[in-house]
Amino acid sequence: MKEEDIKRFSEKLKNSKEAYVLTGAGMSTESGIPDFRSKGSGIWNEIDPMKYATRDVLLKEPEKFYQYTFKRFDFLTDKKPNEGHYVLSNLEKKGLIKGIITQNVDGLHQEAGSENVWEVHGNIKNCYCMKCSQKYEFEELVEQVKEKDVPRCHKCQGMLRPDVILFGDPMPQEFFQIAQRLRSKCDFVIVVGSSLQVYPVAGIAELGKPMGIVNLESTPYDSRAEVVINSKCSEALKKIEEYI
Ligand code: NAD
Repeated sequence: MKEEDIKRFSEKLKNSKEAYVLTGAGMSTESGIPDFRSKGSGIWNEIDPMKYATRDVLLKEPEKFYQYTFKRFDFLTDKKPNEGHYVLSNLEKKGLIKGIITQNVDGLHQEAGSENVWEVHGNIKNCYCMKCSQKYEFEELVEQVKEKDVPRCHKCQGMLRPDVILFGDPMPQEFFQIAQRLRSKCDFVIVVGSSLQVYPVAGIAELGKPMGIVNLESTPYDSRAEVVINSKCSEALKKIEEYI
């Protein structure tokens, strides 16, 4: 991590008027939640998410979905925010960032005190019935999956599903609204802990906005960024905060 990059990053942030942060799974690895792609530690090493975390598997082979994929969501429920989450929450309180668009479903930004958070891939707070749309807390799924192959709605016996976006699911309207807001107003995008390979969210890097990237590995958009810091999220974010 070069001191001059940290300084430049901090300056860009201080001089911006409408900065937004885009976070990915790398934001939460320091909270003990493996990401998709890091070699050797990815949560999906045994299970390819493109094959199992899909709408198709949920609809056609729900037993398989609840036997394999669901464990990966259930596993997130007791995790805690790390120092990086708290820095982002502080930056919002200081008025330096307007909000966070997150691909994560773990709810750790809110737990760290961030208020403007757009969870564009859903979250593990809730689940709902695919037939009558009745909402339940996520815990309902966890409890039913301990005893049944497929969790069911108490009202209509429809199948319950987690309120997360699976491969093949449509993106929520909220995503297009926030993308539009970024297109018209944002003057600095900070990407933290994302491989920028999952679309359409990665398309935010194509809006042509000034961009700063914090990620352990390089991303396909590094050459378009004004500043890139290849280091752990928490370390880089703490340093950036120190300079502000
Ligand atoms: P990704 O797994 O594709 O990429 C994560 C990136 O973070 C990698 O490039 C990796 O090098 C980097 N990284 C890992 N640890 C880091 C650290 N401590 N500091 C800095 N960088 C670090 O993740 P993605 O881009 O978010 O896309 C994958 C999809 O996975 C998303 O749709 C997301 O919904 C889902 N996912 C979410 C969680 C979660 O909720 N915490 C966990 C796993 C996957």
